[in-house]
Amino acid sequence: MAASNPLLDFSGLPRFDAIEPRHVAPAVDALLAAAHGAVERVATDSAPATWENVIEPLADALDHFDRAWGAVRHLNAVVSTPELREAYNGNLPRVTAFYTDLAQDLRLYQRYRALRDSAAFETFDRARKQLIENELRDFRLGGAELPDERKARFKDVQEALASLCAKFDDNVLDAINDWALYIEDEGELEGVPHDVVSEARSAARADGRPGWKLTLRMPCYLPVMQYAQRRTLRETMHRAYVTRASDLGGNPEWDNTPIIDEILKLRREAARILGYETYADVSLVPKMAKSADEVLAFLRDLAQRAKPFAQRDYAELTAFARTDLDLDRLEAWDIAFASEKLKAKRYAFSDQQVRQYFPEPKVLAGLFRVVESIYGIRIREARAPVWHPTVRFYELLDRDDTLVGQFYLDNYARAGKQGGAWMDDAINRRQSAGRVQHPVAYITCNLSAPVDGKPATFTHDEVITIFHEFGHGLHQLLTRVEVPGVSGIEGVEWDAVELPSQFMENFCWEWQVVEPMSGHVDTGTPLPRDLFDRLIAAKNFQSGLAMVRQLELALFDMLLHHAYDPDGGGEWTTPQAVLDAVRREVAVIPRPAYDRFMHSFGHVFAGGYAAGYYSYKWAEVLSADAYSLFEEHGVLSSVAGQRFRDEVLARGGSRPAIESFVAFRGRAPSIDALLRHNGMIEP
Ligand SMILES: [Zn+2]
Repeated sequence: MAASNPLLDFSGLPRFDAIEPRHVAPAVDALLAAAHGAVERVATDSAPATWENVIEPLADALDHFDRAWGAVRHLNAVVSTPELREAYNGNLPRVTAFYTDLAQDLRLYQRYRALRDSAAFETFDRARKQLIENELRDFRLGGAELPDERKARFKDVQEALASLCAKFDDNVLDAINDWALYIEDEGELEGVPHDVVSEARSAARADGRPGWKLTLRMPCYLPVMQYAQRRTLRETMHRAYVTRASDLGGNPEWDNTPIIDEILKLRREAARILGYETYADVSLVPKMAKSADEVLAFLRDLAQRAKPFAQRDYAELTAFARTDLDLDRLEAWDIAFASEKLKAKRYAFSDQQVRQYFPEPKVLAGLFRVVESIYGIRIREARAPVWHPTVRFYELLDRDDTLVGQFYLDNYARAGKQGGAWMDDAINRRQSAGRVQHPVAYITCNLSAPVDGKPATFTHDEVITIFHEFGHGLHQLLTRVEVPGVSGIEGVEWDAVELPSQFMENFCWEWQVVEPMSGHVDTGTPLPRDLFDRLIAAKNFQSGLAMVRQLELALFDMLLHHAYDPDGGGEWTTPQAVLDAVRREVAVIPRPAYDRFMHSFGHVFAGGYAAGYYSYKWAEVLSADAYSLFEEHGVLSSVAGQRFRDEVLARGGSRPAIESFVAFRGRAPSIDALLRHNGMIEP
């Protein structure tokens, strides 16, 4: 079986060169059968519960399942085809059903409880104890304690939610892939950077069309919004972008409106079945924050501090647009354009100018140098089967040359690949049958690909994105935990999971990191010091606006899952009404009435950030405060690095994040470093 189906080969890395959509269903058949068998054996075992007869056999079966299904999910996200999507969506319901059954299996739940109540439990190390406590908590949240008739309904709700969330994403992707604007008059593209125009030309040619093809994918959309002189072009692109997958989008089949309503209703119902008032209450149980009220207070405190800065930013922008750009009324499609012009005037550089200094090979070498010096590790390129010829693969070695882990790097945007940037686990570190399984990570971005035979070049923001995702990757790879379920990023509280990633972003603002990481794509000269100084001066350009935007999203998400009643009644009648209220409270930039931002807010409607979007800001407090220790010791300090590796990265989910933070920092987190890094301390 394993020989004929590459998804069932667990002897090493996933066989991406051999996996085809037709392998998916038979692999899921085989893995489900094996997993069911393991569950039955554990659940019906009459021997006293031990680590060896409860945890290990389940971990073995689930590890294979996760690795195979994880590879399918990954492929569906990065090289989606109609066949693959069908195979993925076709099997998703039974995969979800399996996990829901597992989470509700009262027999397993009792085995875990017996294990926790056994004499051996007290002798377990912290990681083992944490895993068992987490499992018991998740059983409860998965409905294990429910009476049978409610259990059945709960399971239906979970399955329906999984399909709706997948559909939400599909609609956004379809809407993006379907939309194109063909331009025949090059004058329309005035101001758009050369490499974007050149890419648009190839894209049109690939479709057998004359002229240029513009799309809603980031590497095209963003520069058009920032640089296109033609206001009508910006307006057209903006309208298409903010109405993606909505009632105002191109195709009613991809309208996410009913899906959003249904998701909110089902989440509320699931929460009620479990005995909680709102979905936010359930969502917060495994998180660092203790209650929705604590989160709302945290967000509103930050909003209050940031809003005056945001208002000042906006007043400056409108004044500049009036005097310098002849724009009496600043519209939503002018914001990026005017901001870029103001930034260029004030700091005398543009993203396009800066990106010439950040060719990909330099950036990767610079990134690797940082982590090699602070953590005492080494990274080298290696070979492995990949899913696209532009994907690269690397190994991470410790001081003594032992293998720590491996990762794939898939940097470029392309058709059939989900937008955004993310890290996902491919293989988790664990001890099994006396040997340690090395962790493997997928690091995925949507950056500009190389054009005209030159290396890809990145804007400073894009460099930050790579550092960010790499931070997640290190959390996954530098773990020392051998217990499944709490190694790497597994079992880490959602609102702490962005700590290692946002932490990494700080290095992109240090001259001793940036100088050697830069080199002009044509001449090789490093970034001039005065250009870097202007970058730094511009760092907090519009930081008030950026902060209130994030707070707007976070407040919207939390209120939607806490205060909004999806079954009617209450203060707000629709999700849009919640968003409008939040915008009145914290936003500074007016949005057009047709703005359907939430219809593509995948973090909250398709991903795991529901009632959790605040995590970005929450973790930013932690990451800024963690980085302040490096500011005290010297930013490439291996002493601080070793401590961060030992107390935070190595621990994964084996203990509460607050304990790891305090062990590293020597005190509780403080908000000061975040405000300072954002220029929000009044002198
Ligand atoms: Zn992240």
